[in-house]
Amino acid sequence: MAKLSWHEILGLITELQKRGFDVVGPSSEGGVVKLLPLEENTKLETNYVRTLNSPKDFLLPNKERLFRYKSTATVTSYGLKIRFPTVEGPCPITIVPEYSPPRGRIAFFGIHPCMVNSIRYLDKVMLSDPADPYYKARREGLFIAVLECDEGDEYCFCKSVGCEKVPNGYADLSIKKEGDGFVVTPRSPTGSSLLMEEGVEQIEETIPKMKEEYLFDAKDEKSIDLKDPANLLEDCTICSSCTVVCPTCYCSDIQDRFSLMDPSNVERIRTRMSCQRKSYSSIAGGVTFLRTKNERFKWRMKHKFPFSERMYGISGCVGCGNCIAFCPSRIDFRTFLGRRVA
Ligand code: SF4
Ligand code: SF4
Repeated sequence: MAKLSWHEILGLITELQKRGFDVVGPSSEGGVVKLLPLEENTKLETNYVRTLNSPKDFLLPNKERLFRYKSTATVTSYGLKIRFPTVEGPCPITIVPEYSPPRGRIAFFGIHPCMVNSIRYLDKVMLSDPADPYYKARREGLFIAVLECDEGDEYCFCKSVGCEKVPNGYADLSIKKEGDGFVVTPRSPTGSSLLMEEGVEQIEETIPKMKEEYLFDAKDEKSIDLKDPANLLEDCTICSSCTVVCPTCYCSDIQDRFSLMDPSNVERIRTRMSCQRKSYSSIAGGVTFLRTKNERFKWRMKHKFPFSERMYGISGCVGCGNCIAFCPSRIDFRTFLGRRVA
């Protein structure tokens, strides 16, 4: 354990950068705190409750190319001519082995425990067999310096979903503010070497003070199906912000993109998709499974709670409160799912 000054904390970031990490941490930009690459002109913020974005934006980017392939599509004066395999012989598409896994190592510096729990959830989803190679490449060698959280705001409820502490094995360093300085504890061999200390220490983590606590009744789908969210969603504009700012929402869409100038070079792109959009559940033939915003909201709740508990044994909601704090209508699902107990 070491007591460090602000200057020495910045020294740890520089040391991580020297070791080849792309260091990402909270920083103020445009009146809001975001996780940003910490570069020369980016000031680390240590006095914050929430960030607009989350580790998922770095581990699972909003848009990424998965691979490229060659198609035999050509442009004619009548438009795009695509040769279909069933009519004219074997599949005319050749997959070019142009897969390049992401490079570099990420270090999250100064994230709160709820965000560390969101990484644990993404790990469960993306590293389950078969593991997603793009996520796995970014996840390997990840460094995490957790900034302990003293007190949440009115939207935080990490304690109600059991995410107020850092899961085992998910921190290299713990940082706690104390007076003008910081108490920094190594929690992994990499953390110890950065602090130039021997060994790893166990700490009594600070449990953040919650302004509100809830008891949720969301163990199975039925309990959610029985509730009616119509009043709650009266002002929902279906903007999808709740899923964009959620650190555990990982749903994606796959698109093949090409230029009309050269349709033979196609890129397969993975982009983020929101379950709050109608197109999320639309399939060929014009069928949409989740037609109303009430149905889509219930789907989101089911995915966060009973589905995640059943599939991964943990809550898919880490109680960060981002979906409430950044919702333009401040739609708050907490009393829909249960009741306030403190
Ligand atoms: S952020 Fe709020 S308004 Fe937008 S879709 Fe979600 S609940 Fe509806
Ligand atoms: S559902 Fe809301 S409170 Fe839960 S993790 Fe997502 S953004 Fe945070």
